[in-house]
Order: sequence, then structure tokens, then C-alpha cells
Amino acid sequence: MCKIYGIIEGVAVKKESEIILYHKLKYCTKELWKLLAIITIALFIIITIAFIKYNPVYAVKINDEIIGYVKSKKVMENIINEQVLTSDNPCAIFTELTVEPTYELKLSNIVANDEEKVAQILSENTTTMYKVYAIALNGEIDSYVNTLEEAENIVADMKNEYSEDVAQISIQEQYTKNFESIGTETLEVAKAKVNSGLRDIKTEKERIAAATLNGVYFSVKPVSGNITSRYGAVETSVRDHAHGGLDIAAPYGTSIKAAAEGTISYSGWMSGYGYLIIIDHANGVQTYYGHCSKLYASVGEEVAAGDVIAAVGSTGNSTGNHLHLEIRLNGEKVNPQSYIYK
Ligand SMILES: [Zn+2]
Repeated sequence: MCKIYGIIEGVAVKKESEIILYHKLKYCTKELWKLLAIITIALFIIITIAFIKYNPVYAVKINDEIIGYVKSKKVMENIINEQVLTSDNPCAIFTELTVEPTYELKLSNIVANDEEKVAQILSENTTTMYKVYAIALNGEIDSYVNTLEEAENIVADMKNEYSEDVAQISIQEQYTKNFESIGTETLEVAKAKVNSGLRDIKTEKERIAAATLNGVYFSVKPVSGNITSRYGAVETSVRDHAHGGLDIAAPYGTSIKAAAEGTISYSGWMSGYGYLIIIDHANGVQTYYGHCSKLYASVGEEVAAGDVIAAVGSTGNSTGNHLHLEIRLNGEKVNPQSYIYK
């Protein structure tokens, strides 16, 4: 026989201890619910009080440093887009922040109205990409303008004013973050600069042309010094014929430089000239360097304008240290001063 002590939720309970356990559990659960309810209500009251006393604000930070407090992250982001990331400069393509602001939600009694201050600080931490137009003469940039229209205007004007062969004038589109240092000009200033650049190129071209014989440009004075006898001079005390070259006085040993590039075709003693160097240039043009004390270049050697080829002396038919310079075209002597030592 088995004694039944009671029925719990339709199940017969045979032991007294099970009934006690059941009632204990039921009691505990009830107490637990009560406690949870109290905690929830308490939390709600605390949060409500906190929200009444303190406002939720966003601390805006750059590199973990608070730069201001704002009410709304979204409003601040709109202000950044509309104020910080825009530029009045018509050349600006886009602006970006060089720092990354972070937002931290806080409960505080701070008045969060630093939107303008935050925008100002962020504005100081931006880079902007600009598009400008460079005007180049023979590939070298002469000046910058803001718009393609201005650049085209200048090019058209210059093409009217100068013949095409003065210089190649072109427009280059350029992107830069250093707008200030590039320094774009107004249309009139840029036009004047380009004009002056072209004038310089034209002058230089004319200067080179004036120092060029049959395609050979004499860019270097072989020695610097006083001219003591000119081409064609008749000085019976010195020689019995008109002077076929140009005499330039210089101290003994002074370096003599090649007047233009070419190939050494003579390096040695020649009657009257003493120690002599002859350089063959292009197109039947030659230069003679006479009365040298030393010869540094040898026959067959290729020299560039300015290369040292000999030293000043007084060898041969000479009365003092000087360079006797001749320029010949197809063997005929020409006046060196038509091209150098003008
Ligand atoms: Zn001479």
C-alpha cells in the first residue's frame, strides 16, 4: 500500500518532502519576480532623473581630444558637408578632412551648442584639390590661370601677335592642393607674362641666329680679354698683309675653350701660327686657335663648346701672349666679330 499525501497540478504526490519543495520553489519564483520589478522601476526612475537633470550630448573629438559638444551628430554632419567641405574658390574640385572626427555620446549638464566652433576647427583641417590651367612655352610653364577660357584667350592672342616659330605655346590642365603657392594670375597679368616670355624667347633666338654661321652657333668666347688687333687690320710693323683673324690678349697659360662643338682636325706647329689647333665644325666651318703655349686636344678628338683645348702663349709670329682666333667658311677667312666678341 502506498499513501498519497496530496495532488499537485493533477499528479499524485507520494512523499511529504516533495510537497514542501514545491511550495518553496513557488515562493522563491514569486519573490524573484518581485525583485526584478523593483530593479526595473528603480532603473527607470534613475534614468528619467538623469535625463531630466543631464542632457545627452555628443562630444566631438579629434585624435581623442574634445573640440566641442553638439546636440546632434546628424546636424553636425550636415553642417560639415555644407560649410567645411565646400569652397568658394571656383577652381576647387573637392575638399576633404585631414582628420577624422569621432562622436561620443555623454550625459552632461554642458550646453551643447559648439556647432560653429567645431565647424571652424574642422575647416582648419582640410585639404582642397584645385584644377588650374598652365600656359607653357616650349613645354615650360610660364603662368597659371583659373579657367580654360582664359588660357585659350591668351593662346589665341599670342598666336596673332607672334609667328608660330617663336615658341610652341600650349595649355596644360593641372591638379594641385597648393593653390596659393601656384598663384594663378588674372587674365591681363597672365597675358602680359606670356607675352614677355615669348619676347624673351624671340630675343634669345635672334641672339643665337646672330652668332651662327652656316648652322654653327658660336656659344662660347674662347678666352676673355682685350681685343688687340681686329680682323682686316693693316699693321705693317707686325705683318705684311691684312689681319686674317682676331687677337685677344690674355695672360700666359690662360685656358682656350672651343667656340663651338666640332672635331679637332689639326693640333701642332704651323709656320706663323706657332702652336695651332683647328676645329672642324659642321657645314664647312672651321675655327683656328694660334700662338698657343700648350695644346691639350689631339687630332680626331670631338669637343663640345666650352671644352678647354689649349693654353694662351706667344709662339710663332707673335709679339706677346694672346690668342689669334680665325673663323673660316669653306676655307675663306671671315670676320670673327660678325659672330663673337661683337
Ligand atoms: Zn692675329
